[in-house]
Amino acid sequence: MAEKFEAVVVGAGPAGLAAAYELARNGTQVLVLERGKFPGAKNVTGGILYGQSNSPFNLDYLFPDFEKKAPLERDIKSYVMHNIAGDKVKSMDITRLHDHKTSYAWSVLRVPFDKWFGERVHREAEKHGGGILTNVRAKAPLEDGNRIVGVVTDELDPIKADVVIAADGATSDLVRTAGLRGWGPEEHWFQGVKVVARMPRTLLEQRFNVSGREGSGHLFAGDLFGGCRGGGFLYTNKDTLSVGTVFHLDSITAKKTEPHKYLDRLIKHPFFTNLTGGHYDEAEYSAKLIPDGKKNALRFPYRDNLLAVGDAAGQMKAAGPIIKGMNLGITAGILAAQAFLTAKRQRRLHHMGPLYGSYLANSYVGSELFGKRLLRWLAGWRLPNKMLEGFVTRPRFIRSKFGQKRIQRMVSSYRLASIAPDNDFVYVGLPTAVGRAIGDRVESELPAAKTRPIDDRIAALTYDTDIGREHIVVRDASVAASGLAVMTCPVSSPDSSRGCYRLEKARDASGRESRRVVLDTQPCVECGTCAIVAATDWNTPRGGKGVQYQLG
Ligand SMILES: Cc1cc2nc3c(=O)[nH]c(=O)nc-3n(C[C@H](O)[C@H](O)[C@H](O)COP(=O)(O)OP(=O)(O)OC[C@H]3O[C@@H](n4cnc5c(N)ncnc54)[C@H](O)[C@@H]3O)c2cc1C
Ligand code: SF4
Repeated sequence: MAEKFEAVVVGAGPAGLAAAYELARNGTQVLVLERGKFPGAKNVTGGILYGQSNSPFNLDYLFPDFEKKAPLERDIKSYVMHNIAGDKVKSMDITRLHDHKTSYAWSVLRVPFDKWFGERVHREAEKHGGGILTNVRAKAPLEDGNRIVGVVTDELDPIKADVVIAADGATSDLVRTAGLRGWGPEEHWFQGVKVVARMPRTLLEQRFNVSGREGSGHLFAGDLFGGCRGGGFLYTNKDTLSVGTVFHLDSITAKKTEPHKYLDRLIKHPFFTNLTGGHYDEAEYSAKLIPDGKKNALRFPYRDNLLAVGDAAGQMKAAGPIIKGMNLGITAGILAAQAFLTAKRQRRLHHMGPLYGSYLANSYVGSELFGKRLLRWLAGWRLPNKMLEGFVTRPRFIRSKFGQKRIQRMVSSYRLASIAPDNDFVYVGLPTAVGRAIGDRVESELPAAKTRPIDDRIAALTYDTDIGREHIVVRDASVAASGLAVMTCPVSSPDSSRGCYRLEKARDASGRESRRVVLDTQPCVECGTCAIVAATDWNTPRGGKGVQYQLG
């Protein structure tokens, strides 16, 4: 028999946990289902947790003491863009961009952070007969006729609820099975690849000129990444560095490139070597898809009694190098909970979806995701872009004081970053031209970092393999249909013998030799990329199975 709760939240990431805490502290009986062995086990971010000064609904709304109690890394106070052209680098302070409507900006590692958040939620939910249940994968809404009345899981009997909050991240099973959206095209996604590297605290503080709880953020753009639209990041943590790259997925597939190789290129660059004093001690490798909220965010993130929040609803904002996903998810989670509470008070549960939609639209989440559409459209026009490019990338302009001031202003403007088109000029052309025209040549006497080959990265990860139950099945193994996965899967490589995707020679009945794609899901980090770039049937693994991060 189906068990009944007032609310079921699927996914114990920041969005789901925020929703669950808001529900529980207002007396709702809420059950959180998390497929990982504990909250955070599956989660990765860059990442900076922003507080949004134009919204009350940040993490401090839930936990006014979080800055004292949560396992935060460093308060990112300075933000620098390094424009790279070959071995020339020009650094520009863009802290103004980072400070835009920012009340705080903490670097976090998701395993400790989500664990802490989850413990708080569990304690509060227990008071009202709920809690967090781990090792459970929700696979679809439970439907009664056309109504959503709960969730169906792999591990338990169906669970009924008055509201289902889908907070199951970028690869959301619930949003897809509820028919709110499919995977969509490559242009709707970014792919993030990341390493966490250990560094003794004193060395880190000395190298990055930070102290106490303060830290710094470093962004990298230019010709370092083979023309891919995106860039690199380095955030200082307490005694580790979060280093990674984020690229538009369509640009990775167009270049047929291996994303981890660009990450390695960044880590081996002499500028990076000098920045870190040649110290590089890799602790963990990870990857994940990130929805591009401009194209991916759901206008109506609800169906019946199912409300989608966070990455599941595509609520992620990229403004230039600034990535805001966790804070948007937390705010959306709180607003979804409030919509349910209001609808319940008014005894109009059927009204909760539109109510949530209107709360979102009136919040900064709505304006970040859906605002300035006309300006964005105008900014995307090819001709003005070409003219601007021709003007701004002239070395004479860049070398002039006037030009440098203008460029500094452009790259520090949140408004411009919000409407800038996703083109080569913005991501590659301008930073490369700046680096080339006014960058200093960088050499390093220190040896470049020894990055790990992909096989070693896989070997260093922890997996609980679901033997005999593949969570991804290749529908069409031809190179034309699925070959791209060999290059773009972050744990595959033509050089690797242990990765997920490989090309194998096969003979057909007539004896003709061809190549076909083979998949071994054991080393999968569940990023979601091959659901989009290859012909697959893609599911998240069953509860407790698959990859488990230690840091995130
Ligand atoms: C490289 C990189 C850099 C980033 N940088 C930043 C940054 O600097 N700042 C920022 O704010 N954001 C950043 N982001 C984005 C940010 O991490 C996400 O927007 C954020 O994690 C979304 O939170 P969420 O709670 O919606 O989803 P998630 O954090 O993905 O949580 C989803 C949860 O649902 C669980 N789950 C999934 N499916 C199921 C299921 N079927 N059943 C049960 N449980 C399930 C998962 O295990 C997980 O715990 C970055 C992302 C990446 C990859
Ligand atoms: S197999 Fe697919 S989901 Fe798994 S890591 Fe590779 S691309 Fe990502």
